[in-house]
Amino acid sequence: MRSEAVIDAFRAAGALLEGHFLLSSGLHSSNYLQCALVLQDPVRAEEFGRAIAERFQDQGIELVASPAIGGLIIGHEVARALGAKFLWTERSNGQMTLRRGFTIRPNERTLVVEDVMTTGGSTRETIETLQAAGANVVAAASIIDRSSGAADVGVPRIALAELNVPSVESRDCEACARGELAVKPGSRV
Ligand SMILES: [Zn+2]
Repeated sequence: MRSEAVIDAFRAAGALLEGHFLLSSGLHSSNYLQCALVLQDPVRAEEFGRAIAERFQDQGIELVASPAIGGLIIGHEVARALGAKFLWTERSNGQMTLRRGFTIRPNERTLVVEDVMTTGGSTRETIETLQAAGANVVAAASIIDRSSGAADVGVPRIALAELNVPSVESRDCEACARGELAVKPGSRV
């Protein structure tokens, strides 16, 4: 699947928002990708899932894992396409945890899947949580990379597309300098 086709799908779904946003990474940006608006179309979700899965077809992936909530739909689709199991991690008191009775076999070959990677922070936390439970995390993937390739999650990773719009600390943010209030996406859109 071509990178332009992925970004076009976001645009067509009204999921590429423009404004002044506070991202979940804590950074500010003039763009926000509201993945849920694209993934509400199951056909599209399946297509993205297959496109990610194709990149890992020969790697013996047994388990796909995603951080909740953002990674749930795409991770599940990737697992379906790979014939792998799917589970998720979630935050409890700020700490990424494995709950709901999920267990991991020792050295289970695991792919971590996110919707959007900005700093790689939640993917790194997910990887650490899975490793602590015994997983062999072999790679990570996301639909979108908005780190300009810079996010280092400690394992090889791929993305279906890059969105090269800067995300910056509030002290470096032009919109903040103009006195505009940053919006946390999801609360008003
Ligand atoms: Zn700002």
